[in-house]
Amino acid sequence: MTPERFEYVAPASLDEATSTLRDLGDEAKVMAGGQSLLSLMKLRLASPRYVVDLGRVPALNYIRDEGDAIAIGALVTYAELKASALLRERCALLPRAASVVGDVQVRNRGTIGGALAHADPAGDLCAAVLALDARLKLVSTRGERWVWAGEFFLGMYASVLEPDEVLAEIRVPAIAGWRCAYLKAARRPSDFALVGVAVRCRIDGRACADLAMAITGVSDRVFRARSVEEALNGRELETALIEETASRSMDGVDVSGDIHASSEYRTHLARVYVSRAIRAVGAISGPPTPSV
Ligand SMILES: Cc1cc2nc3c(=O)[nH]c(=O)nc-3n(C[C@H](O)[C@H](O)[C@H](O)COP(=O)(O)OP(=O)(O)OC[C@H]3O[C@@H](n4cnc5c(N)ncnc54)[C@H](O)[C@@H]3O)c2cc1C
Repeated sequence: MTPERFEYVAPASLDEATSTLRDLGDEAKVMAGGQSLLSLMKLRLASPRYVVDLGRVPALNYIRDEGDAIAIGALVTYAELKASALLRERCALLPRAASVVGDVQVRNRGTIGGALAHADPAGDLCAAVLALDARLKLVSTRGERWVWAGEFFLGMYASVLEPDEVLAEIRVPAIAGWRCAYLKAARRPSDFALVGVAVRCRIDGRACADLAMAITGVSDRVFRARSVEEALNGRELETALIEETASRSMDGVDVSGDIHASSEYRTHLARVYVSRAIRAVGAISGPPTPSV
């Protein structure tokens, strides 16, 4: 399929991009890596009259040390996240999640800003930023505002971004030395997650502290696993506690079923991956888990 006719606009700065979006209104769509938008346009599920390409705004491509945080420009690609020595050392969850997204082509073109703005309910980075309590900077000609990742995702492919706003920056905490894991179950290595579990925590003495977990692929949006966090924070990560917590982790969650996995199977898979993720950060080897 080919997209409907559209006009291509390539602003050279963030200011120019936001004024263009203000002037063109609902008929314009921002493009970053194009990995989701172009597919939708080819399928004619999206037919914007104007495509505003951010690709010529170099000021949106950086990874900067900001002391207790790391600032990431929206145009940074999955491949750049994966390769960043700063992130690997000080916020390893993000490169780990980025390294299992799609295939090499997708990772070379797809951007962190595009991944979050798209708000895919199976997005890998959506879970990572949620578990990290990241802050997102949204910019328009009306000014800028910061939102927490926990407030950003509204539902399936829906976020708080207004049509005239650009997601410009993502700030993640610098958590060198913390433990983290991103575990993903997919039918094939390059597929979207049937279940993805992002987790980070500190070990304080023998107890686990500041554990945060986010889950993707399971429901209509990524979500924090609050029951897991409440059950584990302040406790020693022992096998019996982990298994008990994982077995109850999907209670109250509206688990999706589709052609790839029934709701029952996805529930089972999510419990298995929650258990594996906790054991990974607790450095605990457990009983063999069912193969998936
Ligand atoms: C074959 C294939 C496999 C994939 N596998 C996975 C996978 O395993 N896991 C996964 O998480 N994703 C996967 N994806 C999706 C991929 O992650 C996309 O790259 C990502 O969803 C969008 O990033 P992008 O930069 O390409 O954004 P685009 O496609 O350019 O844009 C996506 C949406 O976000 C908006 N947008 C983009 N940037 C901004 C911005 N800065 N501010 C405001 N709005 C913006 C656009 O208007 C559009 O609505 C896959 C895609 C493909 C094609």
